[in-house]
Amino acid sequence: KVRVRFAPSPTGALHIGGVRTALYNYLFARQHGGDFVFRIEDTDSNRFVPGAEEYIIESFRWLGIKFDEGVSFGGEHGPYRQSERRAIYRKYVDQLLDAGKAYIAFDTPEELEAKRQEIKNFQYDAHTRMMMRNSLTLPAEEVERLIADGNQYVVRFKIEPGEDVHVNDMIRGDVVIKSDILDDKVLYKSADELPTYHLANIVDDHLMEISHVIRGEEWLPSAPLHVLLYRAFGWEDTMPRFAHLPLLLKPDGKGKLSKRDGDRLGFPVFPLEWHDPKTGEVSNGFREQGYFPEAVINFLALLGWNPGTEQEMFTLDELVEQFDITKCSKAGARFDYQKGIWFNHEYILRKSNEEISKLFAPIVAGNGIDESMERITKVVSMMKDRVSFVKELWPLCSFFFIPPTEYDEKTVRKRWKENSAQVMGELAEVLEGIDDFSLENQEHIVMAWVESKGYKLGDVMNAFRLTLVGEGKGPGMFDISAFLGKEETLRRLRRAIE
Ligand code: GLU
Repeated sequence: KVRVRFAPSPTGALHIGGVRTALYNYLFARQHGGDFVFRIEDTDSNRFVPGAEEYIIESFRWLGIKFDEGVSFGGEHGPYRQSERRAIYRKYVDQLLDAGKAYIAFDTPEELEAKRQEIKNFQYDAHTRMMMRNSLTLPAEEVERLIADGNQYVVRFKIEPGEDVHVNDMIRGDVVIKSDILDDKVLYKSADELPTYHLANIVDDHLMEISHVIRGEEWLPSAPLHVLLYRAFGWEDTMPRFAHLPLLLKPDGKGKLSKRDGDRLGFPVFPLEWHDPKTGEVSNGFREQGYFPEAVINFLALLGWNPGTEQEMFTLDELVEQFDITKCSKAGARFDYQKGIWFNHEYILRKSNEEISKLFAPIVAGNGIDESMERITKVVSMMKDRVSFVKELWPLCSFFFIPPTEYDEKTVRKRWKENSAQVMGELAEVLEGIDDFSLENQEHIVMAWVESKGYKLGDVMNAFRLTLVGEGKGPGMFDISAFLGKEETLRRLRRAIE
């Protein structure tokens, strides 16, 4: 059975790259009728940030990415928080020690540092371990005595040199690494009685029956070590298949997208606003910026994968159907922020006027305007194709609700002709005489009048717009006047020429 997991460390806000990793896992699970597990990897207590776990859960709730089991979701493979699994890990550490596949090392940080100074490119491995203080070099009684005396130690994985380690990656194919370049990674630390990421990750993936490990490219260098660990445990037959997703790059393609880029380049790199409890800094989020979750999902889905067709708009269900992990790119994907804005615009167009109005209505009310939903919806229907975010509507639409109190100078200079006041006076009279103030009827009558007078249509409309809007923007003139109604249109028209 397909079982995948998303396993963040609660070290801060969830980076948008992490969201994409979770999305790809989710799509993969759904399309195979599998399970999606949410695991918290919090064995590094130094990096623990309070609130991060809740933030991550809330992010996925907002995005509509659902887990089948895990922290806060329950399930039969728990506990799903690694800090609650200490006893489990110790057993597996002992298994490796007993089998001679791992050893105990007593070297202090100072001793290690001294070696690094002494030996260029020092790496704790088959060539150097014999000059260090560990259970391979010390007599067994000495090892026991050191432990009994309360000396801190770590358990290191014994990597044998001279071997080609193969990682079979669903995106990258057969990746081969020489075991000589791997060091004897620390698997466990006595000081906090906790395993390191590598051991906990492998043990949990095994016990949680994970079938596929889909994660960011930054973990590819760890993959050979993980393969060796599976082998050391004798779990090769059930070893998950790997897929390492391409990195997300800065918008200019130069380097990896970092958490800092968001604030620096003025766009969010986090799903939700994040209040850093340590620094007090606040970082913008896609939600607070005004993105629809569907737009974020659609945008992220195409950062590293494409369907091989022209199709760009995908619902989550369509993604589940079409996504293909083997067709992900190996090269990094540029985080094209403008494309994200474009997606949000497309979703505004696709959503009904009623849906957008529900979001716009509180903004209208917040500006002290009491309007019916029907009229707000009318405005939205005229204006939504001009914005990418709902919050952009108000500055464009306020004139529908609030008469102009001043007239844009530049527009006046350009569009208000010598005879404009007089022509607008005449127009007011024409409009006064219209009973049916519908768009079509007004247009019909006003056009006929303009023609009979021999006025230039553009001049009349420009001046008319200035009187109703206060500047040169807005939709069709008769859309505006029909919306305002006869009374308000005449009021604005007359006020302008007073
Ligand atoms: N805890 C790791 C992270 O924060 C998980 C990596 C993996 O998926 O193996 O990304």
